Amino acid sequence: MSKTCTDLDTFMSGLKKRNPGQKEFHAAVHEVASDVLPFIADNKDYQGECLLERLTEPDRIISFRVSWVDDDGNVRANRAWRVQFCNAIGPYKGGIRFHETVTESVLKFLGFEQTFKNSLTGLPMGGAKGGSNFNPKGKSDGEIMRFCQSMMTELHRYIGPDKDVPAGDIGVGAREIGYMFGQYRRLSHTFTGAMTGKGVSFGGSVGRKEATGHGVVYFMREMMHAVDDGIEGKTAVVSGSGNVALYCLEKLIQLGAKPLTASDSSGFIHDPDGIDEEKLDFIKDLKEVRRGRIKEYADKYGCNFSEGRPWDIKADLAFPCATQNELDKDDAQSLIDNGLIALAEGANMPCTSDAQHLLRNNVLYAPGKASNAGGVAVSGLEQSQNSQRVSWSIEEVDKRLQEIMEKIHCKCVKYGEGKDRTDYVRGANIGGFTKVADALQQCGVV
Ligand code: NDP
Repeated sequence: MSKTCTDLDTFMSGLKKRNPGQKEFHAAVHEVASDVLPFIADNKDYQGECLLERLTEPDRIISFRVSWVDDDGNVRANRAWRVQFCNAIGPYKGGIRFHETVTESVLKFLGFEQTFKNSLTGLPMGGAKGGSNFNPKGKSDGEIMRFCQSMMTELHRYIGPDKDVPAGDIGVGAREIGYMFGQYRRLSHTFTGAMTGKGVSFGGSVGRKEATGHGVVYFMREMMHAVDDGIEGKTAVVSGSGNVALYCLEKLIQLGAKPLTASDSSGFIHDPDGIDEEKLDFIKDLKEVRRGRIKEYADKYGCNFSEGRPWDIKADLAFPCATQNELDKDDAQSLIDNGLIALAEGANMPCTSDAQHLLRNNVLYAPGKASNAGGVAVSGLEQSQNSQRVSWSIEEVDKRLQEIMEKIHCKCVKYGEGKDRTDYVRGANIGGFTKVADALQQCGVV
């Protein structure tokens, strides 16, 4: 077998047989394969060497136990993984997630997506993802530190600035990166850019914290410009109140839009007057410092808090920025019925396949692998700064971030241009695929 099978059903049934029960991974591959297989069928250059078969098999998966001691002296054990998916175009790169829902399937889906996303940025980064089923909620700083140190005691063998460079993701922010990087330094006896998202005082890049959220809004601005419209004056629904959501809200406010919602896993707040800078400062303090619940916002500003998700709220723009599968078909229909113009994903795979199908055919719809690539892009810039032992200014980093988001947009348009509107999903899938496939072909069968 050396020719890629271009029939989607046959391809998927083989993949499902090889990866039983891994529904998140199946869904991610299905989305990519349904665009890439027809592209391969039409392009002789990509028909040999089983390119998509090879790209759906991770280079390796490292699985290990993380033992740690809680504040009451109890010994605890969690499971952790690093999925090194593909290093054809650069060292492995991708975040680490701490959440009780983390499984090998979730990390394979994220590592697979990351390979395409990193390719789209134009920077030399391969794809990876890691994490643990550890739940950081309610843990003390000491417990978090001991967990992170134990995790790194095993992980440090597999990472390094030219090998694999992890970053943050759900449940892993500046605090956790600091603890993990500290332990890496201690064990490796080196100070290198082996992780990104570091504190600015120890090799982090200014603008990294903001990059994913700001990047999503920059991408939305490009989509709106492409249809001779803009962001200013538009209303927006945003989910989440973590790293991505906070800085998505910030850039929306800076560009003159009116964000109406924010959420966490307990529910969402709806502020019809709009979240402004002062209210956003309150959410930042609530979430980044006090680690409280979003309901406090409703109590302070006298607006509605509801359990559930914000997708029934009428708005021009939507930004799901919390987690996977947080927006289903009914949610998508409700947004469309309420006059949605465009949706850009801040989270990874927040829309279910059914929702994606509806959105793709009715509004401007940007998949996460294109619209949330700003975070990993600035991580790539952090790697460059670490290698050169320099620190760029926020203006320099922001300028490069905007250029990268514009280039990703152009790549999506190049491969996704359609009769009614650009199909950003197809554009991102094929745009991400070609660069990795070219590299795979030129490096021989490895
Ligand atoms: P955070 O942990 O900072 O924030 C996650 C947010 O989502 C929190 O508000 C959390 O609420 C909410 N959330 C988590 N799980 C659920 C759930 N099951 N239902 C409803 N809300 C939930 O993570 P990030 O902001 O870093 O990441 C968010 C998404 O963006 C993820 O999909 C991630 O993979 C993706 N992403 C992140 C990047 C980054 O640079 N950080 C880069 C690219 C993509 P609560 O506090 O109650 O748990």
